[in-house]
Amino acid sequence: MQALICPLCHEPLHARERCAVCEKGHSFDFSKEGYLNLPPVNGRRSRFPGDPPQMSRARRDFLAAGHYAPLRRAVAQAVRGRIVLDACCGEGYYTAAAAAEGRQVYGFDISKDMIRLAAKADKRSLYFVAGLHSIPVATGCVDTLLHLFAPPAPQEFRRVLRSGGYLVDVQPGERHLFGLKQALYDTPYLNREVPPDYGLQAVRQERLRYTMTLEGQQIRDLFAMTPYAYKTAPQAAQRLLEMPTLETDADFLLRIYRF
Ligand SMILES: [Zn+2]
Repeated sequence: MQALICPLCHEPLHARERCAVCEKGHSFDFSKEGYLNLPPVNGRRSRFPGDPPQMSRARRDFLAAGHYAPLRRAVAQAVRGRIVLDACCGEGYYTAAAAAEGRQVYGFDISKDMIRLAAKADKRSLYFVAGLHSIPVATGCVDTLLHLFAPPAPQEFRRVLRSGGYLVDVQPGERHLFGLKQALYDTPYLNREVPPDYGLQAVRQERLRYTMTLEGQQIRDLFAMTPYAYKTAPQAAQRLLEMPTLETDADFLLRIYRF
């Protein structure tokens, strides 16, 4: 765990049997699932930091069914180098795919619930609870930074990346989940495709687009893991959840940047 630093004093963290300690003696216990709780010092507190539990489970179950497996493969292929950090890793579906011989993979998220699921399922990577704007990772040590469907933190990303390191960014493309939106809304809009501004050199862009056919619980899981679950009138949601099958596009934009 040579990439991790103490969230309080920023000295390197060293793994002991049940905890991680810094040279100043700050100590953080490993949970029974094996993750570390390294929240930001001035972090906002809320009852559910990050996503609520039902959303985490819906996401885990939907991803486990393999509907986003093509994206997972593309992300794994884009990973270079020895130290990989997945920023806002959720339940670790893409993080776990980055594991390889001789590689150290780290994933963090502000949602403890997500990190618990990740650490339970994937024993090869090291997971920790942390915020996006003060990542407890040493300056200039990350070879590949993964950043999928999350708000950007360009300054922190440039701080943790080593010179020549890569950032792999994934955002929804314009037709992502359009079939789902058609089932919910009278006049669905295409997603706006705005490339994030990281202040890094753009290397390559790839689009992955395919059709998914979903049934029953998979439709409910997909709906529950999207922001539409909060924004949709109950009647429209009911109409969707009663559909026997749903055809919808998956549309992802994978962009690679170099520092
Ligand atoms: Zn410390």
